[in-house]
Amino acid sequence: MTDTLQRFIFENLAIRGDLVQLDATWKAVQEKHRYPNPVLHLLGEVITASVLLSATLKHKSRLTMQIQGNGPIPFLVVECTHDNNVRGMAHYADDIQPGSLSELIGDGRLAITLEPEQSSERYQSIVELTGSTLAEAIDDYLSRSEQLDTGIWLAVSKERTAGLLIQKLPANKTAEEQEGWNRVQQLSNTITEQELLNLSALEVIHRLYHEEDVRVFETEPVCFRCSCNKERVANMLRTLGIDEIRAILNEEHAIEVACEFCNQQYRFDAVDAEQLFAGEVTYRAPDTRH
Ligand SMILES: [Zn+2]
Repeated sequence: MTDTLQRFIFENLAIRGDLVQLDATWKAVQEKHRYPNPVLHLLGEVITASVLLSATLKHKSRLTMQIQGNGPIPFLVVECTHDNNVRGMAHYADDIQPGSLSELIGDGRLAITLEPEQSSERYQSIVELTGSTLAEAIDDYLSRSEQLDTGIWLAVSKERTAGLLIQKLPANKTAEEQEGWNRVQQLSNTITEQELLNLSALEVIHRLYHEEDVRVFETEPVCFRCSCNKERVANMLRTLGIDEIRAILNEEHAIEVACEFCNQQYRFDAVDAEQLFAGEVTYRAPDTRH
């Protein structure tokens, strides 16, 4: 089983767990763009983390993780819908070299935005990016923005990404439950990247928690899916205004826009472009094309 989210809980301890492993989703990301390795690695970690964090949300929401900084990766964004459709992309310097998180991002910040499906509200929290790895940065983020203790482990290879999250639930209050949390944290800390990547979800859970009382749920599929379409690109072009569009078309045969997430190409020729503004324009020169 691949490209799945496996939820589980520790009976009697008020602790939840989530395990995600991505293969085809990860290949899809790599096929859309030829990112250099340091960018790819971070993008894989953020995609995996976004699925894990999305799994902890109570309401159906779209979760966006956005990193901005002044380093060789100045911008990286990943979105995950409530039904685990993910997409992500990054901007990077051509001469990028491998480095720690702070070397890649520079002075940066991590913003996490939630857009609940049933509401027009957006909830965003932003923290300075700290820690030498993304998992540390997310731990820091969660300890500042939420009261729930959480642990997160991430692994990325060329073929696969994987991640594990454990979270103390609000009901975790008794001394026994607290002790259970410490124990589960220590057990989780023994996971290696190789195990996370190469064992199945159930094998990972067994390997770590075979002495605990764990209940696993049905797995949920995860996939790469981009939400771009021609209408959205058209709306973006409309915001440029008809004069700007005509100026571009004076230079080019058509306006070509590529989606930064999935690389889908959208093409608007002069006729398409004029139609974008049909109804808005009261006067039109007899024929401005040559
Ligand atoms: Zn797209």
